[in-house]
Amino acid sequence: MATTYNNLYLDARSRLRAAGIEGAQLEARELICYAANKTRDEFLRDYTLYVSEQVEQRTGELIARRLSGEPVAYIIGEWEFYGLGLDISPDVLVPRTDSEVLAARAIALTRAAGDSARMLDLCAGSGCIGLAVATHVPACRVVLADASERAVQLCKRNTRRNDLLGRVTSVHADAKEAPSSALWEFDVIASNPPYIKSGEIAQLERTVRDFEPHMALDGGPDGLDFYRAIAAKWKRALRVGGVIVFEVGMGQAPSVEMILAQHGFGNILTHPDTHGIWRVVEGTAND
Ligand code: GLN
Repeated sequence: MATTYNNLYLDARSRLRAAGIEGAQLEARELICYAANKTRDEFLRDYTLYVSEQVEQRTGELIARRLSGEPVAYIIGEWEFYGLGLDISPDVLVPRTDSEVLAARAIALTRAAGDSARMLDLCAGSGCIGLAVATHVPACRVVLADASERAVQLCKRNTRRNDLLGRVTSVHADAKEAPSSALWEFDVIASNPPYIKSGEIAQLERTVRDFEPHMALDGGPDGLDFYRAIAAKWKRALRVGGVIVFEVGMGQAPSVEMILAQHGFGNILTHPDTHGIWRVVEGTAND
């Protein structure tokens, strides 16, 4: 019997919910839009229409992939972060809502640096943090840097997709090594580096563990390798008075504050996310 978009949606949502998927409502809609090649507006408009057999079948296949753990962002090839549409591939982490606090703080710091501020997104992945900054701070210049060539290519695509080619460049750089001389005099460096303890990767939920790049997750034995390397080696890429701002994992803020202090950063501040978790730690390069 023919089914309507409404029924297809309700059915998909309840299957995702039954599997314990938190964002079942949003995910069901995204998967059906993708299966039917419709925009969100077209989907809402066509709610009462009957679905073709082909769309019904495609939706079933996509739901099965989701139920096997694959993130929706990888299935549909895109995700939204901070109001920006971004291409997403399995070469990069799916942007998390948790990272909005890093984006907001990076925006505030870059804006405060005045006209023609220079901002670096180190370990940029999809480019989500740096592109949010470029979008919200009209005069600034942004560099997106990542150790994965494929991530750098994706950063370039996302820069083009958001019409930011005039102010945003993407480069290959390993955060654990000292910066090249081309990367210097930044007002702000924002970084969401890999910070999961190596020994805890195996316990991550399947959607993360089996599908997302471990290179973007693994922060070494105590999860802090990148904070140590970046604090030690990248301070020289900041101008005097420039600020480094990190996303940190749950419980890591005190260690990262200490690492920044040990490397001579001042004005160390920590900010909570919307769940009250200390999520962002920053410090100023005073020399
Ligand atoms: N927040 C991510 C997670 O929970 C980890 C991101 C990272 O290591 N930078 O999976």
